[in-house]
Amino acid sequence: MSWLESFTPRHIRDLVPYSSARREASSGSVWLNANENPFPRPGFEGLNRYPDFQPQALIQAYADYAGVDKEQVLVTRGIDEGIDLINRAFCQQGVDQIMFTPPTYGMYDISAKTAGLGTDEVPLGSDWQMDVGTMIERSDQSKLVYICSPNNPTGNLLKRSDIIQLLEATRDTSLVVMDEAYIEFTPENSLVNLLASYRHLIVLRTMSKAFGLAGLRCGFVLADQEVIATLQKVSAPYPIPIPVVDRVSTALSDDGQQGMKREVAMINQARKDLMRELKAFSFVEEVIPSEANFILFRVKDAEALMSVLSESGIIIRNRSTQYGLANTVRVSIGTPDEMKQLSLAFNEYEDAS
Ligand SMILES: *Cc1c(COP(=O)(O)O)cnc(C)c1O
Repeated sequence: MSWLESFTPRHIRDLVPYSSARREASSGSVWLNANENPFPRPGFEGLNRYPDFQPQALIQAYADYAGVDKEQVLVTRGIDEGIDLINRAFCQQGVDQIMFTPPTYGMYDISAKTAGLGTDEVPLGSDWQMDVGTMIERSDQSKLVYICSPNNPTGNLLKRSDIIQLLEATRDTSLVVMDEAYIEFTPENSLVNLLASYRHLIVLRTMSKAFGLAGLRCGFVLADQEVIATLQKVSAPYPIPIPVVDRVSTALSDDGQQGMKREVAMINQARKDLMRELKAFSFVEEVIPSEANFILFRVKDAEALMSVLSESGIIIRNRSTQYGLANTVRVSIGTPDEMKQLSLAFNEYEDAS
């Protein structure tokens, strides 16, 4: 058995993936193999054909952007689908469990429970850092360990030394899934360069946040090529719509990347400004240092703040029900005009309270 096969449930090891018409044939000029309508509909040119399973130009573009080989890349319908595929490929209902570290992104839990998997929660400790000792102690019970840095909803980075300690200790027990949804806001902290040393590391990326394409639903899994090959077995045959492939390819061009970086610089500056402003308000009790495009902060009365802001039409997110986050709210960084409106509303609330 290869190293990965020992992590892979038997029903997945034995699975022969669906062989789509597109995957069986790749060149030719008369395409009569996929029951497609041969007539392109005016205004929908090219869309009478199925897309490629994993469009190679797009895969190569993301591999170049991320600094990995194209065999290490899988394109998905957002990170959310990546999480589902990983859970389905490596875990068995009623047998396996996953670990995650609340407060964190809610879909690790939901996706696992939807698939009938157990969950082991090891809460973040002081400064919202991992409790690595406990995680390592219990890691042999979990097939997958989900971590997120910068973490949502707290916004902070996890310590690189902790992550390396976790990776060192889990080589034979688990796959470590690192969610880098917000990494473009702090690119020097990516762990992609650790993929070469730790084949049990999986990195998740998305076009939804810094790239500004949440509506397209596109994400990437970066991992050892054997991991990618296993995920391909459980993927849908044609996951990515042709218009999405085209638009994401454009966003990954040099121009597209430069545009993203300009916006990241503006958002990072606006986050620092908001951070400073929040600390001065008397209704704010704690502001968590963020490296992402949002800030989580604790107030005296989260409900009251939410309802006052909503009277001005401003919607922020109450995170108070999450583990350890009583009376916290999360604000995404908006346009300069939106930040001005937010600031006005905060000042009115400050004056009234
Ligand atoms: C927004 C978010 C996602 C979802 O990403 P999609 O690619 O849009 O599915 C995943 N992980 C974290 C931590 C997020 O904040």
